[in-house]
Amino acid sequence: MSVLGRLRNIRLQDAVWLLLFAALGFASPTQSAGEIFLLLCLAALQVAEPRLEALNSPQGKVVSALIKLGLGYILVGLTNGVSSSYYLILLLPVVSAATTLGVTGTIVITLLACLSYLSFLLPVYVDWSQVTLTDDGVRELSLRLLFLVVTAFLTYELAQAGRRQEQRYRATLEELAAANRSLKEAEATIRRSERLAALGQLSAGLAHELRNPLGTIRASAEMLKKNVAGRGEVAAELAGFIASEVDRVNSLVTRFLEFARPLELRLEVCELTEVIDRAVARVERDSGPGRAAIFKNYSPDIRPFPMDAELLERVFYNLLLNAVQASPPGGAVTVKTRPAGEGVEISVIDRGSGIEPRHLENIFNPFFTTKPDGVGLGLSIVSKIVDQHGGTMSVESEAGKGSVFRVHLPTKPAGSASSSSA
Ligand code: ADP
Repeated sequence: MSVLGRLRNIRLQDAVWLLLFAALGFASPTQSAGEIFLLLCLAALQVAEPRLEALNSPQGKVVSALIKLGLGYILVGLTNGVSSSYYLILLLPVVSAATTLGVTGTIVITLLACLSYLSFLLPVYVDWSQVTLTDDGVRELSLRLLFLVVTAFLTYELAQAGRRQEQRYRATLEELAAANRSLKEAEATIRRSERLAALGQLSAGLAHELRNPLGTIRASAEMLKKNVAGRGEVAAELAGFIASEVDRVNSLVTRFLEFARPLELRLEVCELTEVIDRAVARVERDSGPGRAAIFKNYSPDIRPFPMDAELLERVFYNLLLNAVQASPPGGAVTVKTRPAGEGVEISVIDRGSGIEPRHLENIFNPFFTTKPDGVGLGLSIVSKIVDQHGGTMSVESEAGKGSVFRVHLPTKPAGSASSSSA
């Protein structure tokens, strides 16, 4: 790290600590080597503490407070014991404990600080045959101890208020992040719907216009076939190609028009799991043996609710088929249901090829496909049916790791919540 970088790492409070300890050293009447050394150690610990990973763990904080207590104890012991002017240095471990440890840690360290200060009254330190403890002395001693306790209490209260405030900020931050995520999802859904609506209108018009010329081409090809009958094999074969290719295009146009047509829901109260079961059975039948297995993880807490069972079966069929097709042979696909808010969430989870980030925006667009024989209408139809049910969709995917498609469906038809509360 450059010198400038190091300087930038020095905080204002570090400078204040260093200054304070330097002032203590200068103010000392004896300035003995031991005293200066202890002050240096305390200053170094105070400054290094926030930077040392080991001292920031819960055990590290206890160790740090105990070291400060030990160094302070020796310093007071070296400088006249109970009447040392350094007795306030014992505030250092007490304040540290109150700001970084819980209530038990603060009580223990404060008690240890008081006891260590009182220990200077032991005969090892005081020759009681020469000295007597006056009433004033006792009062001064009690005040000093009380001072330690009051400081511990006040600092602890202040630190607790700070911690509570921090918790509130953190909770607000998390709420904001969640709201931001939902907003982004909602924006993506709106963008998708707008794009789909515009594309749908344009293409539906185009597809409709294509139908008439296609019909004419088909009829002409039929007539041509009849006219050239017996006049050459090649001409008949070419007329046959025209007819069959027109049929293919026609079927694509019909599928697309089906997709573009506004959906009319036929709502009936049905059991969601039965609808998913039917979709699973169809996917298993259509995708044949050797494909990924489908596992069901249904919540027992979902009651039957109004839905268009036929259309929702198509939703789960498309999602499950995509998941199976993206999974390696013998892989696993899971379909999971759970109550979520005012509705249910159905997730289709696979550990298959996943979707590249650059494709994620497009997968719901009609005709977007990465499959050689895909049409790219599956997810646009899924999204349209879910929209029509008043639901939402989201996808989480990582290329090479797999995908999770989530469908959220309301269990009450739109508007029923307000009418029931009225
Ligand atoms: P199609 O299946 O005809 O390609 P879809 O609209 O169903 O059309 O899917 C569009 C594209 O989205 C797919 O071609 C594929 O690239 C991607 N996709 C959809 N589901 C998955 C999935 N579970 N895993 C990986 N890619 C997926």
